[in-house]
Amino acid sequence: MRNITLTQEEQQAKKLVESLRPLQENPAPDGYVFPCPRCGHERMTPEAVRNALSRYADVYICSECGMDEAMRDMVGRPPLPFSEWGMVLGFAEDAEDEEEESEPEVIYFRGGRVLGSDEEITVPQVLVEIQAAWAEKANAYGDVGSCVIGAGFEFEFEGKRYKMPPASKWQGSCSWEAFVDETREALEAAGATNIQYHWGVMD
Ligand SMILES: [Zn+2]
Repeated sequence: MRNITLTQEEQQAKKLVESLRPLQENPAPDGYVFPCPRCGHERMTPEAVRNALSRYADVYICSECGMDEAMRDMVGRPPLPFSEWGMVLGFAEDAEDEEEESEPEVIYFRGGRVLGSDEEITVPQVLVEIQAAWAEKANAYGDVGSCVIGAGFEFEFEGKRYKMPPASKWQGSCSWEAFVDETREALEAAGATNIQYHWGVMD
């Protein structure tokens, strides 16, 4: 891996991106494969090592992105900044609201696992179950439409702030949007407050 000089913001973005690698190497029992952290597309090969290893971060990227990195390198173009990686853009929407005050960290989870944090955080079981129920319905509903990234609920629960993306196996947003209302009700019933839903952006 190449070492490049990074601003503090870029270093943080790189850390976030690299937090995905253990999840790439040990996929969830439901077989969910995370989208490519660089382009955000759902085109990673389930077996981690069959994708490309980024030249700039310790994480697997899709082979198209691997080729793009190589091409840029060959013609002397700088690498894509980490702040422009799909996975980082998915998080950025939240970060912007937070910069002004030092609000608590948002815990971004999928299944029982938390992304982008060094701390040991346990996601309350009730939240894991609500997300799983949402995913199950979305998976059954299905949508192969355009790829939407950054969607999900944000809320407070027992004094902490969470972001819960739809754990749908489909990239199309219709699969999970059909169940936004009932998922919101489930969160309310569990005691979550300040519930907001982000529709995400079309990739
Ligand atoms: Zn990619």
